[in-house]
Amino acid sequence: MKEQREWPAGLKRTQSRECVLAVLERAQKPLSAMEICAEIEKGGGKSAWLSTVYRTLELFEKKGLVVKLALLGGETALYELNRFEHKHYAVCLACHKIIAMDNCPMERFLPDIQDAGFRVLGHNLEIYGYCNECDPKNG
Ligand SMILES: [Zn+2]
Ligand SMILES: [Zn+2]
Repeated sequence: MKEQREWPAGLKRTQSRECVLAVLERAQKPLSAMEICAEIEKGGGKSAWLSTVYRTLELFEKKGLVVKLALLGGETALYELNRFEHKHYAVCLACHKIIAMDNCPMERFLPDIQDAGFRVLGHNLEIYGYCNECDPKNG
């Protein structure tokens, strides 16, 4: 049983916000607003408005609750819960499948940058290519 996260302070608790948060908590990968909408409908059987989901996500992002990933040059905005650990994803250019990477390829370079007199706070990395199913080499 997963521990229920506390409702963030300073945020009014509404049913739609609870739904969005619950979907993000269950998600194993970043989701688009559309996917979140579909998940809510699957779970509760009632319709969720995309505009409400968007607004909720925007608010969550402002509160630092959610991280927005703009993959493929911002073409698709995906959201995931801010778990205060960073993750990298590889995106398939053909089917837009997202594959989470187990480790951070930057880790071995960061100490060098720090030594060079720069305090690193974070980084962004975009990895793209083809997944196994889409790779023309496998066709
Ligand atoms: Zn693919
Ligand atoms: Zn990293």
